[in-house]
Amino acid sequence: MEQAKIVVVGAGPAGIATAVEAKEAGIAPVVLFEKRDHACDTIVSLYHKGKRVDPVFRKIKLEPVGRLSFETETREQFLERMDKVIKDYNLDIRYSSDVRKIVIGPESFRVVATSGFEMEAPIVVISIGVFGKPVKPNYPIPKEVRDRVFFSMPQDPVKGKKILVVGGGDSAAETVCFLSENNDVTLSYRRPEFFRLNPINTRELEKRTSCGKVQLKMATDISALDKQGEKVLVHLNDGQTLSFDAVFYCLGGSTPRAFLESLGVKFKDNRPVTNEFGETNIPRLFLAGDILRGKGSIMAAFNSGKMVVDGIMKHYKELVKG
Ligand SMILES: Cc1cc2nc3c(=O)[nH]c(=O)nc-3n(C[C@H](O)[C@H](O)[C@H](O)COP(=O)(O)OP(=O)(O)OC[C@H]3O[C@@H](n4cnc5c(N)ncnc54)[C@H](O)[C@@H]3O)c2cc1C
Repeated sequence: MEQAKIVVVGAGPAGIATAVEAKEAGIAPVVLFEKRDHACDTIVSLYHKGKRVDPVFRKIKLEPVGRLSFETETREQFLERMDKVIKDYNLDIRYSSDVRKIVIGPESFRVVATSGFEMEAPIVVISIGVFGKPVKPNYPIPKEVRDRVFFSMPQDPVKGKKILVVGGGDSAAETVCFLSENNDVTLSYRRPEFFRLNPINTRELEKRTSCGKVQLKMATDISALDKQGEKVLVHLNDGQTLSFDAVFYCLGGSTPRAFLESLGVKFKDNRPVTNEFGETNIPRLFLAGDILRGKGSIMAAFNSGKMVVDGIMKHYKELVKG
């Protein structure tokens, strides 16, 4: 069986940063397993074309602590940046390798991909993010409207529709701004005010609201969805009903808890328990990026790669060097 010093599961910003920091620390071989046939799938699949990628996300500005950083740029420029990092650092990414099983041995882990491909390593870093599992509302989505309800941007452009976007974070605001170019868009948010939008999204949303391109429905709670002919009928808690051609939910993602618990990772207050380096209760099994905090940003993911490698070098240098 192939052997590595570190196996990183998931080649998003956190996984790539971990591999870069490991290489900079002189650790080799480092191998990444990525379930898609490309890196950074959250950015490829969930960011709309031309989306602005902001280092300040969820109103949090982080200074870079490691090798990777970026300034505001488009989705395409960011993906080019990451491709260049992969090439420059000659990262060994095994694509189309969806990891569902990690066997814990006394001195090493055996990481198994659904393709059957396996690798052994003393250290494993899991950086699979949270967007494989989008947060869904707590009411059912009737099967008759499922083809009109979305948790990510559809591949085909959406034009001339009456659309409801549900959520109040930066990704909801960006989805509204993007869709409002060619559609009649309403945003429903359960709070009376936005509290964590970055200033650019706040400005863009205000611009579109003041010229009537976007309607805001603040402090609204949806209780149910129904089919109404070709439309989706949205029931609000206050008794109002509204009808739309499509509904987009932008509620974030959720930690793949079942997968982590199947490995024996302990949870407290709904979060995996880790030390300051992201190491779980299972020695030598680390978490990096969104999966560590539940919510995050690209800069936080980059920084967590550095933090994990600092922890590996502090506690397990003899296992990964030489
Ligand atoms: C619509 C939207 C807009 C956003 N805009 C911004 C922004 O402007 N600025 C910002 O800083 N942040 C933004 N974010 C948040 C940012 O995308 C995340 O915080 C960041 O991508 C987290 O990086 P990560 O590496 O932890 O996880 P991810 O980026 O989710 O990467 C995880 C990787 O692991 C792979 N993977 C998953 N499961 C497996 C498995 N079992 N085996 C192997 N591989 C697997 C995935 O395919 C993926 O490539 C946005 C998020 C969304 C959804």
